[in-house]
Amino acid sequence: MTTGTPSPAAAYDDQNVFARILRGEIPCRKVHEDEFALAFHDINPQTPVHVLVIPKGRWVSFADFAAGASAQEMAGFWRAVGLVARQLGLDGPGYRLLSNVGADGGQEVPHFHVHLFGGRRIGRMVPKAPEAG
Ligand code: AMP
Repeated sequence: MTTGTPSPAAAYDDQNVFARILRGEIPCRKVHEDEFALAFHDINPQTPVHVLVIPKGRWVSFADFAAGASAQEMAGFWRAVGLVARQLGLDGPGYRLLSNVGADGGQEVPHFHVHLFGGRRIGRMVPKAPEAG
């Protein structure tokens, strides 16, 4: 299965688009790569800077990564996220990190990824639902 909303507990799909990018089967606009992470520009940017950072390991979502990744993988991944933000010049003006998890989170690609948004004032965290008051 390559589409649909993944469950955080779903089995890893080796045909998901980010797995294919990691294997070099489809191109990406790479901004950083190291042992633990790959960062590339989102194909449909929502802000002037919109970069995705993904771990090299086969993790469906943040929930999967948090439950199963080694301390070394976690440290390496999050250090790469910080490095990419700094390299993109976002430390001064600021930025937003976001990771969608599963159906309620709106996750579309079932490989854990962090969105890095910057380059403009992003505004409130989450659209306010009418029922939230
Ligand atoms: P999410 O809803 O958090 O799973 O976000 C998936 C993101 O992946 C979306 O922002 C898409 O625009 C982005 N995306 C999908 N395919 C590609 C691709 N081939 N290269 C870069 N970004 C992609």
